[in-house]
Amino acid sequence: MDQKRDYYEVLGVSKNATADELKKAYRKLAVKYHPDKNPGDKEAEEKFKELAEAYDVLSDEKKRQMYDQYGHSMGPQGFPGGGAGGFSAEGFDINDFFSRHGDLNDFFSSFFSGGFGGATGGRSRSRGPRQRRGGDVRVHVKLSLEDIAKGVTKTLKVPTFMPCEHCHGTGAKDGVAKATCPTCHGSGRVRQAQHTPLGTIQSEAICPQCDGTGEIITEPCTYCHGQGVERRDQQVSFSIPAGVSEGQQFVLEGKGNYPKGGGIPGDLLVVIQEIKHPELIRDGADVIYNLMLDIPTAALGGSVEVPTISGRARINIPAGTQPGKVLRLRGKGLPDLDNGRTGDELINIMVYMPEKLTDAQKAAFESLKGQPNITPSAEESRRIFSRLKHIFD
Ligand SMILES: [Zn+2]
Ligand SMILES: [Zn+2]
Repeated sequence: MDQKRDYYEVLGVSKNATADELKKAYRKLAVKYHPDKNPGDKEAEEKFKELAEAYDVLSDEKKRQMYDQYGHSMGPQGFPGGGAGGFSAEGFDINDFFSRHGDLNDFFSSFFSGGFGGATGGRSRSRGPRQRRGGDVRVHVKLSLEDIAKGVTKTLKVPTFMPCEHCHGTGAKDGVAKATCPTCHGSGRVRQAQHTPLGTIQSEAICPQCDGTGEIITEPCTYCHGQGVERRDQQVSFSIPAGVSEGQQFVLEGKGNYPKGGGIPGDLLVVIQEIKHPELIRDGADVIYNLMLDIPTAALGGSVEVPTISGRARINIPAGTQPGKVLRLRGKGLPDLDNGRTGDELINIMVYMPEKLTDAQKAAFESLKGQPNITPSAEESRRIFSRLKHIFD
């Protein structure tokens, strides 16, 4: 048999290393040589096993004392709990090692998605019986632009699976007709043997009988038929800040469904739906209003009424307003959630060309034809178009 390396040397620590130093050294090296990281590498595998063996002995005060005294030769009484062969490699069982060092399982599952050859599934990270979590509930809240501008508080009745009032959500008669699960004896987990390059490895799985809760119902609650939940209207109130937009989602933690048989509730997801405004078009924090002016008002000027989020407003139209001009009503838009500013209302002006004219109207237009201030020069056209150029962007 090959000469075994000194355990302290294996871990790269001094003879008087503290428990903490040992653990740190072990973790560092175990991550390096972990089989998941070195698939098919026999040497890494051996190193990993060697490390485990060294750590197993040195992390146990009694075994460490024995080892310090006797080295690799068997101690007088052998090594209790250290495998049948004491320190011999043949007697070292990696299963036993991981079952003795549960904290390491958790450590590995945080490093390797699959855990140690499947031996340390992510679920074993939390020790003890697991808690079920209920599903999320999604509600859509329809908001008008007016609501969005000011922010709003909503109170809704949301059908939700709530704990049964008769069994307090346990599903067991009067909430007490429960017993420790006979399959897992209350731990919520069962062990499974798995064959890996390192030999047979025990892995843990959620107990199928109790679904990991460690308890079974001996007599179901007659009101909820053992489900522990019943569908009730839950009244929820929440406030929605000003400036939200279509599709935005808010999470109300713990306001979702309770799981069957007890556990923690899911979340309530509130999804914003915008109700289309009949006249205004939202553009981020701005709102757009398309205003169609009649020819006399565009030419002579005047005042017109326009809709805004906060009601009707009267605006002045200067004489000679061109189609395509955009008037800006500052601060008449919506709050911008990103920068806290308030957007504007943009009034997009068009001029209406009558599609049918009376004879008198035709005559009036005829009389305007060809007059120098009515017919724009090339230069004047360029000047106007350049001011309106944004509409061609
Ligand atoms: Zn069980
Ligand atoms: Zn019940």
